Amino acid sequence: MRRPLIAAILLGLYGAASGAQAQTPAEASLAAHPPAVEATTQLPRGVSPTHYAIEVAPHADKLAFDGKAKIDLEVTTSTSAIVLQALDLAFAHSTLSTPQGETLVPKVSVDADAQTATFAFDAPLAPGRYTLSTDYTGKIGTQANGLFALDYDTDAGRKRALYTQFENSDARRFMPSWDEPNFKATFDLTVVTPKGQMVVGNMPAAETTALGNGLQRVRFQTSPKMSTYLLFLAVGEFDRATGSVDGTEIGVVTPRGKVDQAAGALEASRVVLREYNDYFGVKYPLPKLDNIAAPGSSQFFSAMENWGAIFTFEHSLLVDPKISTIRNVQGIFSVAAHEIAHQWFGDLVTMSWWDDLWLNEGFATWMAGRTTQKLHPEWKTELRAVGGREGAMARDSVATTHPVVQKIQTVEQASQAFDAITYSKGGAVIRMLENYVGEDAWREGVRAYIRQHAYGNTVSDDLWGAVQQAAGKPVLDIAHDFTLQPGVPLIRIDSASCTGGKTRLRLSQGEFTRDRPDKVPLRWHVPVVAQVQGNARVDTVVAGGSGSLVVPGCGVVVVNAGQAGYYRTLYGEAQFAAIRDGFVSLPTIDQLGIMGDTWSLGMAGLRSASDYLDLAKTVPADAEPALWSDIAGHLDDLDDYYDGDVARQQRFRAFARGLLQPVFARVGWNAGTDEDAPVQLLRSSLIGTLANLGDEAVIAEAKRRFDAGPDDAVALPPALRSLITGIVAEHADAATWDKLHAMAKAEKTPLIRDQLYDMLAAPRDDALAQRALDLALTDEPGATVSAGMIDTVSAEHPDMAFDFAVAHREQVDQLVDSTSRARYYPGIANGSSDPAMVGKLRAFADAHVAATSRNATETAIAGIEYRIGVKRERLPQVDAWLQRQGG
Ligand SMILES: [Zn+2]
Repeated sequence: MRRPLIAAILLGLYGAASGAQAQTPAEASLAAHPPAVEATTQLPRGVSPTHYAIEVAPHADKLAFDGKAKIDLEVTTSTSAIVLQALDLAFAHSTLSTPQGETLVPKVSVDADAQTATFAFDAPLAPGRYTLSTDYTGKIGTQANGLFALDYDTDAGRKRALYTQFENSDARRFMPSWDEPNFKATFDLTVVTPKGQMVVGNMPAAETTALGNGLQRVRFQTSPKMSTYLLFLAVGEFDRATGSVDGTEIGVVTPRGKVDQAAGALEASRVVLREYNDYFGVKYPLPKLDNIAAPGSSQFFSAMENWGAIFTFEHSLLVDPKISTIRNVQGIFSVAAHEIAHQWFGDLVTMSWWDDLWLNEGFATWMAGRTTQKLHPEWKTELRAVGGREGAMARDSVATTHPVVQKIQTVEQASQAFDAITYSKGGAVIRMLENYVGEDAWREGVRAYIRQHAYGNTVSDDLWGAVQQAAGKPVLDIAHDFTLQPGVPLIRIDSASCTGGKTRLRLSQGEFTRDRPDKVPLRWHVPVVAQVQGNARVDTVVAGGSGSLVVPGCGVVVVNAGQAGYYRTLYGEAQFAAIRDGFVSLPTIDQLGIMGDTWSLGMAGLRSASDYLDLAKTVPADAEPALWSDIAGHLDDLDDYYDGDVARQQRFRAFARGLLQPVFARVGWNAGTDEDAPVQLLRSSLIGTLANLGDEAVIAEAKRRFDAGPDDAVALPPALRSLITGIVAEHADAATWDKLHAMAKAEKTPLIRDQLYDMLAAPRDDALAQRALDLALTDEPGATVSAGMIDTVSAEHPDMAFDFAVAHREQVDQLVDSTSRARYYPGIANGSSDPAMVGKLRAFADAHVAATSRNATETAIAGIEYRIGVKRERLPQVDAWLQRQGG
C-alpha cells in the first residue's frame, strides 16, 4: 500500500491458470520444512481453506450485493464448529460436504464485535477435506473499505463504479474467509454485472456468459495461492490501455474517456516490471498486471498492491495535461515502483502476520527509491532518501515511537501500523544494511529469500538469514538492534585529532530524543562511515556505546558520509565550525544530511537553534536546488513557530525573504526549455514559501496570473496552475472564495474538481475556513473529498477544525474510511500550539478510541508539547541570532 501524502507531516498479478495450482519447487520445499513458529492468528487454527469459489452480484444502485461462497477446506484438528471472519454479511442457505459425500446443514451465528461467523455442527468433524457452501448478502460502502462505490461526474452524466480495498482486514466484508495473511489459498472469482461494464480482477477473465435481463457473468481464471487481502474486483465503465513486457500483458484501466492520460503510468509499469524481473531473479508470475485508476481519494492510502490488479487513486496515476506537474510525473513513477515491488515483496512472499508489515512496506519504500534513482538519474532521487530518513527520525524520537517489528493484536492496531516507522524507518534501515553488505550481496540475499519463500509466508529473520548467508558477513546484531528496539542512535564525535596525515576520531553512542532529555540511551550496533573530504571512506561498527576510527586525510571530517546510516551525528564545536566554513564544497547528499542533523539537534536543544541558519547563509544562490528546497522548507517551519507573535514574525520573515529572494530571482516564474526536474521543483517550493512569508510581489503576481484565467497557458502553465490557485485560495477574500466555489461546482473533471474543493479549505481567513467546514458536511464535495477538506482547514486552523470535527463526529465518521478513524482526529489536531488541545485530545480518545488504539492520539499530543517547547525555548535563540545579523 502507498500512504497518502499528509501535508501536516513535514514531509507519502496473475499467472497461467493451468500452472497456477501446481506445487512449485519452493512450495514443496516449504512443505517439507514447516515453519517452526506458529503464526499469530485470531481464528482457531485447526481448520484452513485451500480454495475459494466466490460469486458476487453487485446491486450498485442499492449499495448491496448477493454472494455465494464455496470454500474447500481442510480440518486438521477435530472440531464441531468452523469459525471464520465475516463483517456486515448476512447468511442464508449453508451446507457442508463431508469426505464421505454426506451433506450437513450447520447452524450459523455471527459475532459482530469479533468480526466472525461460526458454522456449528451437531457432531465433531473428523480431520479431512470438506467443502463449505453458503449464500450471503453484503453491503457496498462509500469509503474505501471492502466493496465500495465511487461516484463521479462526466460529460455523459453522473457515473458510479465499484472497487474493492481489503488491506488490512476488509476481505471479510466481501466474503466469509480466513482473512489473515498466513491463510493462503487459491481463488475463483465470478461476478454478475450489467453487459457493457468492464470487470477487472487479479486474473484475466476465463469465461464471459451472456445472461438474460441485460446481464453477463464473468469468471476469472484461478489465482495462484495468495492472501485474502490481495484479492481485487472492479466494475464500471472503463477503458484499458495495454502493452507487454517479457511475455506479461500490462494494462492501465481508467474511467471511460481517460485512457489518453495513462501513457506515463503504462510506461512506468513497462520499465519497472522489466527491471524487477531481473532484480528479483524470479519472473513476475501472473499472466497480466493491471493498474486501475479510480476517482476520489482516501485518508488511508493512495494505492494498493492487489496481485495483478494494482488499485491507484487517479491523482497518483493519471497525467491531466491541464494541471500535472513534474512532481505528479515523478509521483506516478514512484507509486508504480512501490506497488510493483509488492508484487514480489508482499504478494508472492507475504509476512506471516502484521507484526512484520514493515517487510512489505519498508522494502517497497526502499525499492521504489532505488529503482527511481536507477531509471531516472536526472531526478536525483537519491537526495530524497535523506528527507525520508528525516521523516522517520522525527517520528522515532518521541516516547510514543515503536520498534519496526511490533506486536499487533487488533485489526485497528494493524491499520495504525501503516506509519512513518513501518515505511520510512523500514526503508532507511534496509538502505543502511544494503550499504553495509554491498548491493550485490544484498540482491543475492533478496533473490534467495524470494526463491525459498515463494507463495509462502515469512518473518523478518527469514530475510536476515538469507542476506547474512549471501553476504558472508554478520548482519543479525545490526538488523535486530534497529528493528526490534525503537529510537534513533546519536553518534557523538568526542574528539578528532590529526597526526601523520590521518584523522583519529573517538566516538560515543547516545540516543537522540526530542522529548526525554534524561533518557538512559539504548545500545545499538551502529555501522558508522566517516570521510575526510577528498579521501577514502572508512567504516566501523560502534558497539557497546563507543568506538574509534582512523580516517585518511586531515581536514573537514564528515561522519555518516554518504548518509546511508540511520543515526544522528553530533559534532563538537570546533568540528562544526570547520564543517560550516567548508560547507559549500561538501557533496550535496552530505550537505543535506548535515542540515537535517543540525536542524533537529538545534530544535531538540543539543545545538543552538540558530546553527542551521549559519549553514543556510553559506549556501550560494546557484547551489544544488535540493539544498534550497530544504532551506525553504525549514524557513516555513520556523515561520509557523512564530504564528501568533506578529512583531517577531515580521522580523523573521524579512530575513527569510531576503535569503530566498536572490535564489528566486535566478529561477524566476517561467520555466526554461528542457529545464531540469529539480529546478522545476525548486521554483514551486520558492513560490509557495515566499507567499507564506508574506512576499507581496509573489502574492500579487499569483493573483494576476489567476485572474488571467485557466485558458491563459502563459499566465497559468500546467506546472504552476495548482500552486497559484492554492496561493490565491490561501489569501482569498470572500469574493475570491465565491469565485473558486463557482469554478469547483462547474468543473467536470474529477481530478481538477476534487483539487478545487480542497483549495476552498485553504483560506487563512477564519470566516472562510468556517464556510469550508460547513461545505464539507454537505453532499456537494463528494463522499471521499470532504474528509480531506477538514484536514486542509486544519493546516491553518487546527483548533477550529478539530473542534468542528468533534462537534459533528457522527457525520464526519461517515466521511472517513473506517480504518483511518482512530488517527484521523489526532491528525487534525496535530498542528495545534494550544496547551488546551492536549486535554481535548485525551477526552476525545477516552470517549471514542479503543484503549489499544491510542498511539496516534499520544503522538499528536507529543507533537503539540514539542511545538510549545520549541516556541518557548528555541525561538529566543533565533531572535538573538537575527539581532546579531542586524535584522
Ligand atoms: Zn506499500
